[in-house]
Amino acid sequence: MSVLLLTHLACLRHDPGPGHPESPERLRALLRALDTEEFALLIRAEAPLATREQLGRVHPEAHISAMLDDRPGEGERFAVDADTILSEGSAEAALRAAGAAIAAVDAVCSGEIRHAFAATRPPGHHAEPVQAMGFCLFCNAAVAARHAQAVHGLKRIGIVDFDVHHGNGTQACFVDDPNVFYGSSHQWPLYPGTGAESETGVGNIVNVGLPPGADGAAFRAAWADRILPALDVFAPELIIISAGFDAHARDPLAQIRAREADFAWLTQELCLIADRRCAGRVVSLLEGGYDLDGLALSAAAHLRVMMQH
Ligand SMILES: [Zn+2]
Repeated sequence: MSVLLLTHLACLRHDPGPGHPESPERLRALLRALDTEEFALLIRAEAPLATREQLGRVHPEAHISAMLDDRPGEGERFAVDADTILSEGSAEAALRAAGAAIAAVDAVCSGEIRHAFAATRPPGHHAEPVQAMGFCLFCNAAVAARHAQAVHGLKRIGIVDFDVHHGNGTQACFVDDPNVFYGSSHQWPLYPGTGAESETGVGNIVNVGLPPGADGAAFRAAWADRILPALDVFAPELIIISAGFDAHARDPLAQIRAREADFAWLTQELCLIADRRCAGRVVSLLEGGYDLDGLALSAAAHLRVMMQH
């Protein structure tokens, strides 16, 4: 089955500085791994720019303006916080990342494509409506979900997040919205400190914390026992994946011991629920993943399953 791959060279020009883990090299490594005959059947497209109207469904104008209108000059950097840095190219990269998420929704809602993957950066799941943080400027998954509702008339959106960090931004966007499900596995405790299992929103949120050192079996059990059954019962009309690969055993920012095969297994399970509930519609958005080999191999495994499914 054809899978749409959205990316843009502008996503390489968001440069948070030397030594920063969320480096342009991450995306280069990922795209190199897809530059093989096996992935020649991917349908490749350039990520468009999100519009302010599209971002405005999630973020107030003051936040959009703070990210876009006062751009650093060449060689300059502005620090939002200790981790979250704007460079000259950050505004366009962030607009392409959100734009890719929107284009992915458009593609799967057209019925011509069932699965789409946005290979973009900066990531999004830590960005709250009025606060960029954790390397994230706009909450791409939330922008995609609101676009699906506003433009394509979908009501029930399921967002799942297997990044090793809790997606505080995505949760904040939907904490009181029964029409959006948010399910996350993450190392606990860890940055950003949210994602306690007691945080259940209006019954639409499932958080599963994993202790440092948890292995692939524990990762799979969190999904098989807790999150996937809740997602299935929710009966989403679209599944959006916050695909961070920093639960990989090689990742330097966390201590979960998952492997490529675990991400492949979870991708397959999510595609099966999508088949059953929403005509296979899956939009996957790159979040974290900071070991270059772990990231590239895991993203390739994720896409391989989507292409075969
Ligand atoms: Zn992460």
